[in-house]
Amino acid sequence: MRRKDSSVRCVEPSIRPQADVPLAPFTTLGIGGPARWFARATTTEEVAAAHRWAREENLPLFVLGGGSNLVIADAGFDGLVVQVAIRGTAVTQRGAETMFRVGAGEPWDDVVAAAVGRGLAGLECLSGIPGSVGGTPVQNVGAYGQEVAEMIGEVTAFDLAAARVVTMRSAECGFAYRTSRFKRDDAGRFVICLVSFTLRPGPPTITYPDVVNCFKDRARASVTLAEVRQAVLAIRRRKGMVIDAADPDTRSVGSFFVNPVVEAGVHGRLAAASGGAAPGFPMPGGQVKIPAAWLIERAGFARGTRRGRAGLSSKHPLAIINCGGASARDVLELAAEVKRRVAERFGIALRPEPVFVGFADDPDVAYLLEA
Ligand SMILES: Cc1cc2nc3c(=O)[nH]c(=O)nc-3n(C[C@H](O)[C@H](O)[C@H](O)COP(=O)(O)OP(=O)(O)OC[C@H]3O[C@@H](n4cnc5c(N)ncnc54)[C@H](O)[C@@H]3O)c2cc1C
Repeated sequence: MRRKDSSVRCVEPSIRPQADVPLAPFTTLGIGGPARWFARATTTEEVAAAHRWAREENLPLFVLGGGSNLVIADAGFDGLVVQVAIRGTAVTQRGAETMFRVGAGEPWDDVVAAAVGRGLAGLECLSGIPGSVGGTPVQNVGAYGQEVAEMIGEVTAFDLAAARVVTMRSAECGFAYRTSRFKRDDAGRFVICLVSFTLRPGPPTITYPDVVNCFKDRARASVTLAEVRQAVLAIRRRKGMVIDAADPDTRSVGSFFVNPVVEAGVHGRLAAASGGAAPGFPMPGGQVKIPAAWLIERAGFARGTRRGRAGLSSKHPLAIINCGGASARDVLELAAEVKRRVAERFGIALRPEPVFVGFADDPDVAYLLEA
């Protein structure tokens, strides 16, 4: 963390929190009780004002982005929920590099579309991921061979612990596979207000098997960024991974579990447990990343499995969906059943990807978070 941001003026904006606001409509899962208090922050100053308000009222504060990675308790959140709605994108040029400085409340896919439209590489495989720009550093979103950390230059955030605005370079964000300091050690401490991306023109990334397959009959050099974006969107739609009100399989948090990364020996033993070779992708340090979807299907969960009002997507076993009227409890119970069966069959503890909100000392959540 380097400096106090001098662009923040000492003004005293006020916020007017609303009482008892249902949170389900703010989430892609469509589940969750009310926020005791709810406010939107459209500027960094309003974030600071929300922080002051919550501190004066002695209430916890939760930061809401696009609600695409949240399981919110049926009882809701007993504190102040602040939806970050800071908008705007500033584009600057430095030699061959183009900098996008983007408000945390901008929709993520708009940033990808703008980068691809300008011929800038590095984000094209992250097309179609729902949520806000501010949500992307939190779990270092990734897909189809790219991670957002590779293109992030800086993150500007309001530090709730120190009550000031700070700017962190990418190296200070603790990025790793599907996590960061914002999700791990410093969860809940920073309200991300701006994210700067450093982009350059270049060829698209075509490394992930599904994407490679789309262009197998083409010379790689002829494939454009826009074509890769369209290919990724098409692949994602087939898997129910692009939000679509007409597709019930998209009423989810995306992947419910992170792909486990295990030692090579553990991967080798999977073949014996499953009666055939197990898929795996090499990771740094000799470890192997195993598709969680493969483990779930081999543990006996078919696509489209239903447990009351919750189920698995008919297109992707890794997505737990709200089939209509599901509660957070329905989702937790199904997730716990999946985790238990995978552990029994393969000895691997799946780690959930979404953030759980409003579940104080909940045994199902505690089990899901167990390593
Ligand atoms: C259909 C579908 C497909 C998906 N596909 C992918 C995928 O391919 N790859 C992938 O990595 N993820 C994927 N996701 C998960 C999700 O879209 C991403 O994690 C997204 O970045 C979450 O952003 P959000 O704004 O919706 O955050 P929220 O869901 O609102 O919040 C998630 C977490 O981030 C925090 N947060 C949000 N905004 C801020 C902020 N401004 N400051 C500080 N903290 C903040 C919240 O407090 C919470 O802890 C998918 C989800 C769905 C529903």
